[in-house]
Amino acid sequence: MKKVMILKYAELNTKKENIGLFLKQLKKNLQVRLESFPVTITFDKGRMFLNMEEEYFESVLEIVKNTFGIHEIMIGYELENTNMSLIENSLKELIQVAEFHTFKIDTKRSDKTYPMTSPEISKHLGGVVLKSKQNVRVDVHHPELTIYVEVRQKYAYIIFEKVEGIGGYPVGTLGKGLLMLSGGIDSPVAGYLAMKRGVKLEAIYFESPPHTSIEAKNKVIELARLISQYGSPIKLHVINFTEIQEAIYKNIPKEYLITIMRRMMYRISAKIAYRNRCKILVNGESIGQVASQTLTSMSVINEVVKMPVIRPVACFDKLEIIDLAKKIGTYETSILPYEDCCTIFVPEHPVINPTLEDCVEYEKLIPYEELIQKAIENETIITKQKSEFEDYL
Ligand code: ATP
Ligand code: MG
Repeated sequence: MKKVMILKYAELNTKKENIGLFLKQLKKNLQVRLESFPVTITFDKGRMFLNMEEEYFESVLEIVKNTFGIHEIMIGYELENTNMSLIENSLKELIQVAEFHTFKIDTKRSDKTYPMTSPEISKHLGGVVLKSKQNVRVDVHHPELTIYVEVRQKYAYIIFEKVEGIGGYPVGTLGKGLLMLSGGIDSPVAGYLAMKRGVKLEAIYFESPPHTSIEAKNKVIELARLISQYGSPIKLHVINFTEIQEAIYKNIPKEYLITIMRRMMYRISAKIAYRNRCKILVNGESIGQVASQTLTSMSVINEVVKMPVIRPVACFDKLEIIDLAKKIGTYETSILPYEDCCTIFVPEHPVINPTLEDCVEYEKLIPYEELIQKAIENETIITKQKSEFEDYL
């Protein structure tokens, strides 16, 4: 009998024809994420098995729990075969160390040729537990301990612990997207949700030195690192936006500052995305949150790009976004008080119903294509979020 970790990936099972691809990616992601642990990964119908020495279970579980594509993690014991006498003896041995007063047995049998049905096995093993442990009784509704028994083709399993996974699809199964990552609360959450659907991320950050500080940039680097923990390392494109922003500030009517600024951000993001084979843009816009996120603003801003723009938090309330930010561990970093380039140049009365005609007219006042080209050529790329950030701490 050996201790194993068994992974269930319920939603992936619905991807019938692509399941091989999804599982290959999941295995690859796990191998990378568990690189520093001596773990072997094997498959069997609808399950993945992680084998390792007992001392690694806790640390490995922490990582597996936060890996997209896994819905449930079961921790239990693998028996050498499916003989009922072996299952009985193993169960007797295992329950001696467990503390409980009420229990139930829940059996699954994927080997349909097994001589007993699942309810028969549960009933039989229930009797075994009652005989070999004192002061315990069966409670099928609210048991203190549920003992799961799985009888598969070759092996049987006795499972005492089930832990919820974070679900979703394995990161990388659906290609790459470019996340517009500001230092705010919304965009890291948007990135997390896109990764949850299997999208691998690169990120883009617009900075405006000296109007924005190095601390503001470090905060974004840290946010990229935090969300990369759910997927893979994130290549962060840092774009110097100062010249464009100053040109907008000097030449364009104040109420249109934000609208035009965001059209520039979108143009640059789409170009960086194309160059890096990202198929979509992802951002943290949420309908109605600010003037640039009214439906009219969003459509006028969106007009400059052809590629799909996915807004995972578009329909979330701010409080819902905050809850999720806390859950995924980005909130505390997001609320550090460093200014963003959007907040510095915010006019008192930004337009909430901009028109496309006005945007096109005003944009003629600045040589934006040239400025965009220059900004892209001067991008800096940060790939090692952790070490870069640590340098500044
Ligand atoms: P967040 O939305 O991340 O909390 P925010 O509310 O300050 O930050 P908004 O002004 O609402 O940002 O901008 C909407 C979205 O535009 C952001 O979620 C982000 O995706 C993108 N964005 C804004 N500023 C930047 C920036 N400096 N660099 C990259 N993307 C940005
Ligand atoms: Mg926002």
